[in-house]
Amino acid sequence: MSHKNISQKHESQKHESEASVSNPYWKTKDMADMTAEEWENLCDGCGKCCCIRLEDEETNAVYITDVSCKLLDGQTCRCTDYVDRKKTVPDCVTLTPDNISSLQWMPQTCAYRLVAEGKALPDYHHLVSGSKETIHERGMSVMNAVTSEILVSEAEQARRIVIWPGEPDLDV
Ligand code: SF4
Ligand code: SF4
Repeated sequence: MSHKNISQKHESQKHESEASVSNPYWKTKDMADMTAEEWENLCDGCGKCCCIRLEDEETNAVYITDVSCKLLDGQTCRCTDYVDRKKTVPDCVTLTPDNISSLQWMPQTCAYRLVAEGKALPDYHHLVSGSKETIHERGMSVMNAVTSEILVSEAEQARRIVIWPGEPDLDV
């Protein structure tokens, strides 16, 4: 009896596991229905959205730089004060299922953007590769490639426009 129950449990876990592999939550769930953990886990940790963006006042075109927010640790690609970040960086945007589609400046490779657009996550994403290091090993993050805004004057930031891997060429 107990053996049968154990065996059934394993079978059901196996089926659940197979289903989650072939139908992972980011493909099957509406973003609005994701748990807080699932939502946070979508972030690939690329750090691109934590780089200073500059807007051309004439064309409204937005360019990204290799100058990072003062709270970004450029060696880990992590925010050093994520929970309380708005005390230091009030304009840091909180991504939600409601605003992700309207944030046109978000990187093309941003996992939230990809999922919102119905696209697949890349093979370097940790939910696909199984490791949060893959993105850095593939050079798809800003790890060790940014300078903190604390060290770069506003005048110099205009000379720090870059094209991060996976992003489209500048339209100039
Ligand atoms: S406050 Fe943190 S999450 Fe927001 S842009 Fe800066 S480093 Fe990134
Ligand atoms: S661009 Fe998107 S996936 Fe990359 S760190 Fe920012 S929120 Fe996460």
